[in-house]
Amino acid sequence: MEETMIQTDKLSALGIMASSFAHEVNNPLATINVYAEDLIDRIQAGDEDLDEEEMEHYLRKIKENTERCKRITGNLLNFSRKNDWTEDRIRVREIIENSISLVEHQLKKQRIQLELRVAEGLPLVSGDGLKLMQVIVNLINNAVDAMESEGKLVVSANGTVDGKVSIEVTDSGHGIPAEAMDKLFDPFFTTKPIGKGTGLGLSVCYGIIQQFGGSITIDSKPAEGTTVEIQLPAERSMRAGLGVEDQAMKMDEK
Ligand code: ADP
Repeated sequence: MEETMIQTDKLSALGIMASSFAHEVNNPLATINVYAEDLIDRIQAGDEDLDEEEMEHYLRKIKENTERCKRITGNLLNFSRKNDWTEDRIRVREIIENSISLVEHQLKKQRIQLELRVAEGLPLVSGDGLKLMQVIVNLINNAVDAMESEGKLVVSANGTVDGKVSIEVTDSGHGIPAEAMDKLFDPFFTTKPIGKGTGLGLSVCYGIIQQFGGSITIDSKPAEGTTVEIQLPAERSMRAGLGVEDQAMKMDEK
């Protein structure tokens, strides 16, 4: 298995990112412009061939490209992540279950078999719960994109010997070619067709996990599948052995 460990300087290349961003957003903007201009010209010329069906075609193209821009900017906003970071006491089990409920429909649609293995008594983690959910959903979406119908997805969470929480998302998808491994976390690196991938998912995940003080690693074997592992440090009080998820739940229930 080929492994890539992320270097902390990956995201410091903000300048590169800014120019890639301009490039990525310019393409769909140019397309929107062409469709809008063409439509206006035809309306102004009183083109009688312009029927409802064709108008709808123009509007759909405009909408598709607007959505693409929205996805790119939405992802980019996460780079300025310090602005809206909340510090929650996170039960990893709950976050994983919530993440899965967001993608369940897609899993069913693609008839992907899901196996969930969350160990009992995991330590709590501190950080932004919604951001962690965003990371897990992103990893599951990548896994789903890599699988044909009837693939297998395993989401697991375990405690590590050094007191961290390890979350793994494993798929039986097409895997990642060796030459792509060190580009995976680069902003805008994508192998997905235009309109599907922005190449920002993993770099955003990386930024979020870094803020948790954790790490993210990817193992993959072409034609066999991919495992993404996140390791998160346990909450400080948990590291001192003061409690685990189940106790925190009991406290809340009182
Ligand atoms: P995007 O999903 O928009 O392409 P990401 O940054 O999330 O952007 O992923 C970058 C690339 O990494 C993907 O285009 C794909 O080639 C590869 N990749 C990520 N996760 C997986 C996976 N589970 N299986 C195979 N390839 C993957």
